[in-house]
Amino acid sequence: MTITSATETPTIISRVAGWLSPEEFHILEVACDTLLPSLEPPPGSSTALADYYRHRASDLNVAQLLAETLTFENAEAQTQFHQLMSLMASPLSSLLLAGSAKPFIDLSQERREKYLFSMANSPMAALRRGFQTLKRLSGFIYFSVPNDQGVNPNWEVLDYPAPAPPPSDAPQPITPLTISRDTTLEADAVIVGSGAGGGVVARELALAGKSVIVLEKGGYNNEANFTLQEAQATPELYLKRGTLTSKDLGLIVLAGSTLGGGTVVNWTTSFRTPDYVLEEWEQSSGLKEFTGSALQDSFAAVEKRINVNTDNSQHNRQNQLLVDGCQSLGYHHDVIRRNAIDCQQRCGTCGFGCRYGAKQSTLKTYLQDAYDHGARIIVRCNADKVLIEDGQAAGVKATVTDTATGKTYNLTVRAKTVIVAAGAINSPALLLRSGLENPNIGRHLKLHPVSIISGIYPEKVYPWQGVMQSAYSDQFAHLDGNYGYKLEVPPAHPGLLGLATSWYSAREYRDLITDAPNIGTFIVLSRDKGEGKITLDRYGEPVIDYVVSVYDRHHILHGLRQATRAHFAAGASAVVSVHSKRTRLDRPASSVVTEQQFRAFDRQLERHGMGVNRVMMFTAHQMGTCRMGADPKTSVTDEHGEVHGVKGLFVCDGSLFPSASGVNPMLSIMGLVHRSSQYIKTTV
Ligand SMILES: Cc1cc2nc3c(=O)[nH]c(=O)nc-3n(C[C@H](O)[C@H](O)[C@H](O)COP(=O)(O)OP(=O)(O)OC[C@H]3O[C@@H](n4cnc5c(N)ncnc54)[C@H](O)[C@@H]3O)c2cc1C
Repeated sequence: MTITSATETPTIISRVAGWLSPEEFHILEVACDTLLPSLEPPPGSSTALADYYRHRASDLNVAQLLAETLTFENAEAQTQFHQLMSLMASPLSSLLLAGSAKPFIDLSQERREKYLFSMANSPMAALRRGFQTLKRLSGFIYFSVPNDQGVNPNWEVLDYPAPAPPPSDAPQPITPLTISRDTTLEADAVIVGSGAGGGVVARELALAGKSVIVLEKGGYNNEANFTLQEAQATPELYLKRGTLTSKDLGLIVLAGSTLGGGTVVNWTTSFRTPDYVLEEWEQSSGLKEFTGSALQDSFAAVEKRINVNTDNSQHNRQNQLLVDGCQSLGYHHDVIRRNAIDCQQRCGTCGFGCRYGAKQSTLKTYLQDAYDHGARIIVRCNADKVLIEDGQAAGVKATVTDTATGKTYNLTVRAKTVIVAAGAINSPALLLRSGLENPNIGRHLKLHPVSIISGIYPEKVYPWQGVMQSAYSDQFAHLDGNYGYKLEVPPAHPGLLGLATSWYSAREYRDLITDAPNIGTFIVLSRDKGEGKITLDRYGEPVIDYVVSVYDRHHILHGLRQATRAHFAAGASAVVSVHSKRTRLDRPASSVVTEQQFRAFDRQLERHGMGVNRVMMFTAHQMGTCRMGADPKTSVTDEHGEVHGVKGLFVCDGSLFPSASGVNPMLSIMGLVHRSSQYIKTTV
């Protein structure tokens, strides 16, 4: 998203002017002010509440910041945006969408709202996509971007505390290697990516006395510079600055991109791969590696190093609501184990890095061990290509950015062992860029698609406060054999609420967000049977081609219905989904929601659709794009993660999974990679 403060107008306008014409920018500004106009406050509003309603998007420079965010998109995406602006300039589109043949900017606010709502619900996928671009980004920016004092003007009404700046005295115990000229280095092993997989293999090799170089695309961020500001942490810590989506925008894709990868921003939920999944993997892959004791030993070793325990799993209000709801319906629920020490429920900002060093990410554990045993770590370093000579891995070509000067340099690392651990989106992209031709590379992408449903509770929930995930339900994990979903809980900070909250009209959207402190959200996390693929765009960057299958949509819909019941059982006064059409059930005056009312809402959820950009969907779990298997015709790597046909080239991340893990995947990745590392170190 954007790192800029809401008061930096002149710089932004000059940057934006480079790619948006003044006419286009004006349309964008009017669109943002239509989504977020100045509204008459409800009678009797406090000063803060009146200000909340009166601020329009342009008072917070939303259009400028949105345009600035899009400057990071490639030319193709920018062309699509130009097309959207040109469509909105055409009177014909207004006639079709709002019933009046004037350009969008000349319509009344009422007609413009009609125009945008029609776009959101259009049968034309491109219009729904265009609406989502405008609404998600403007909602995120409006509710998250701070002013020069580090505070967003909407937070007072939401009762959201501004984070304190990072402590000035926190140590940075790793010193990344500086590259300030074109450079060639040599090592026993070079590792691309430093997340769940990359961190583990770096340590195992370094402790075995091998010389190791880790290349990480993101920067080095830790307690010393975690701002905990959603608008700053998102671009700094997430892949593609937090704006990654599937190519049709149907799925919002969250993945970490910083030293430590996803383990720095994740929510510390630590599940071993279930036995039934391991058995399935053994059968489908033709490998005998999954059900034996070696993998269980690796899980145990990883759990010890990252301190997996239940002592840090105190429920915050949201998690307690999930427990209460499940308990009262007689559904399964249990406590989630977490890799944290002395967490104390102090914040709720795991997603922006742990200010207290409580989260035992690979940054604090495996990478630190690797560094302490001599591994060299290079950040802001993008691996472009794996070098392969006569069927043997020979190194990596990369581009490093010197943060001090902004200059980039070529880096070549020569090594006979190359470990690709760039995550399930970027690992296949790197292999494809390197000229590997196995058609399985990039295929079989699994994402655990998630949709959410929120309860509005009579009491304060503060969905941004406390342990992110500490409770779950597996009641419906086996709806169809080993396929179904988990119910869990996500944190929700104002930017995410702004992005995800449905917009049916400007007034309803703003009203709904005033409920933020009372909102509790449950997520339906499906184990996907459907799949997608990673391909390369013309710039060599990964494209995520994934549409949630009808089979998986059915499970997610089932989950939204059950989560609705759980919310009401836990005391919610209303439930609202993230469909583009108003999809809401209020507790009746009698206080009991009848079975008939539930059924009517079940039908509404289905009628309002589970298709692309009709309901918001997310993924934080990417898997399967370089899957393991005995047969090179159906897989990419062997049982050790070594790429079929290329000696010394290993994959060590979530791409390895033969299918979706069905549980939050960090521990599965770390366990598999720990086990492979025991082999890899014998070959280096
Ligand atoms: C918000 C969020 C919450 C989550 N919560 C949980 C949870 O609670 N429990 C759980 O089990 N899982 C969770 N996950 C998922 C889990 O963190 C990931 O599945 C896991 O980190 C993936 O590990 P990986 O090794 O495959 O890749 P990653 O951890 O994503 O690491 C890949 C690294 O490679 C780097 N990279 C990419 N391309 C290149 C390149 N070309 N050159 C150099 N470096 C490159 C990236 O910047 C990144 O740092 C969460 C994920 C997110 C985003």
